[in-house]
Amino acid sequence: MSLHYLKQAGSAVFVDRYITKAHQLIKPWNGEEIEGIGLIGAPLSKSSISHSGASFAPASIRKAFSAFSTYAVEEDIDLKDEIIHDIGDIEMVVTDIVQSQKRIEETMLELFTKNPQFFPITLGGDHSVSASVIKAFAKTKGTIGVIQFDAHHDLRNLEDGGPTNGTPFRSLLEAGAIKGENLIQIGIRNFSNSRYYFEYAKEQHVTVYTMKNVRERNIVSILEESIDKLKKKVDAIYVSVDMDVLDQAFAPGCPAIGPGGMNSQDLFDAVSYLGKESLVKGLDIVEIDPTLDVRDMTSRVAVHVILNFLKGRNI
Ligand code: CA
Repeated sequence: MSLHYLKQAGSAVFVDRYITKAHQLIKPWNGEEIEGIGLIGAPLSKSSISHSGASFAPASIRKAFSAFSTYAVEEDIDLKDEIIHDIGDIEMVVTDIVQSQKRIEETMLELFTKNPQFFPITLGGDHSVSASVIKAFAKTKGTIGVIQFDAHHDLRNLEDGGPTNGTPFRSLLEAGAIKGENLIQIGIRNFSNSRYYFEYAKEQHVTVYTMKNVRERNIVSILEESIDKLKKKVDAIYVSVDMDVLDQAFAPGCPAIGPGGMNSQDLFDAVSYLGKESLVKGLDIVEIDPTLDVRDMTSRVAVHVILNFLKGRNI
């Protein structure tokens, strides 16, 4: 009877019957109408202006879910009954960046159109994928607002290199998908931007909270102010998390690491707050390169961003 000890290859080495692991929340999408959270990979990073293997992040983030449980002891909230539909990854065109970005927009547009209750959590990829997702979001959700966590404005001109990971919010403003007054940037930091683009942000009436604002104020008060401002003007809010908003100490796997950034707890508190807000109808996490990461630290932070967001929805 010793065959009794055999288990499926690759399954967990140790299982505790009283612990639900976060990866158990993820269920492959069965093709039926999606109601609620759906995870979707946009593995594109050839559009990066620096070396990036962010196309590997959807796989590494999914894998990192198995490192954590579903229970938030601080609030006594268990997410074990949540379902995260895994929609899959969007297939990229290996030799064509613009065509790949178009595929992301078209896929998201079809998903939003056919599934009005679908709440996407998009895993990049570099930050250029957000422009594609948000264009589809804007076409289907009415007037939209965007809250962007980022070290950089990402408002670079499109003439110097086309739609890269430095241009997504410029693309969105120029396409009329969002108005500057409905774009809020949080975590913009020193020696990572230029005056020209800060001036451009101001001209476009973009709200900019620098790292100094984040350090001197409670992050939740910044979010309260942001939601208050957007609530009067938009039908839906999209949240874009560029992981390089975090200090390099917390996110070593970002291509554009640097000091002077946010700590991970402030980001968790922020997304947890946003999870409570019913106007928030989409989230992405971008700019993690697992090939540069240390022990998957940055992918693990990404999983905590998602779990904290879900926690917020349950408060
Ligand atoms: Ca960015």
